[in-house]
Amino acid sequence: MIRLTFLGTGTSQGIPMIGCNCEVCRSLDSHDKRLRSSVMIERFDERPDERPKDILPDKPGHAIYTHPIGADARIVIDAGPDFRTQMLRENVKTLDAILLTHEHKDHMGGIDDVRSFNYFQGCAVPIYATERVGNAVKKDFDYAFNKNRYPGVPEIDLHTIFPNTPFDVAGFHIIPITGRHYMLPVTGYRIGNLAYLTDFNHIEDSQLEKLKGLDTLVINALRYEPHLSHFTVDEAINISHILKPHRTYLTHLSHQIGLYAQKKDTLPQGIEFAYDGLKIDIE
Ligand SMILES: [Zn+2]
Ligand SMILES: [Zn+2]
Ligand SMILES: [Zn+2]
Repeated sequence: MIRLTFLGTGTSQGIPMIGCNCEVCRSLDSHDKRLRSSVMIERFDERPDERPKDILPDKPGHAIYTHPIGADARIVIDAGPDFRTQMLRENVKTLDAILLTHEHKDHMGGIDDVRSFNYFQGCAVPIYATERVGNAVKKDFDYAFNKNRYPGVPEIDLHTIFPNTPFDVAGFHIIPITGRHYMLPVTGYRIGNLAYLTDFNHIEDSQLEKLKGLDTLVINALRYEPHLSHFTVDEAINISHILKPHRTYLTHLSHQIGLYAQKKDTLPQGIEFAYDGLKIDIE
């Protein structure tokens, strides 16, 4: 089983946005508090139940499997400025890797905080990104890549990925999906029957082909009005209608979407606005 946790579902400024007095930014509903967009994906491997036989339910011949208390593997997609807050909120103790979608700060501004994982896990944190995005990591966090590094800087094990080459991380098989974010190529990821696409405003048919037969699609939808570099709600719904996943969640939402309580029932069947902390289990 794979568990998807929405660490953050807000656009680049988050909600509330500094200085904004709109009803969404003033809302007291926790569904209207959106950290910068990121997801955590955990895998719980099936294994025979090793509890003593006398406490197992009495069902002769019935193979019983349980999920371990902790996940067997855990990755996150993007590590924006709220990464530390998100790791603390979800009580994350170990992290196997970070996949990056693109180099905007709302997606990689929090990488310095991998230091805690370096310390407690005793190793560098693998980060997977295209060459261009990897170069941005090296530029923005140059102190982590210097020859004579200051003690205690983040330890990053940077891996270059290629748009048409699937790769394996911590036992997850990952298929990169390329989109456009105005002028910038951006990478989404398919992991099993889950796909996470953020900061897209265009996707080619060849990439849609890679997204057939999804259970769960997560896709960005900034607002209702057209935007230069992000899908609108209608554009995201359109992609969902083409792909026909079992369920679709909209993320990277701005305050212009409106109050969650007022908007949550306005989307077509099977499509929902995501919110921070939402967890979805996918078999
Ligand atoms: Zn963004
Ligand atoms: Zn606002
Ligand atoms: Zn962006």
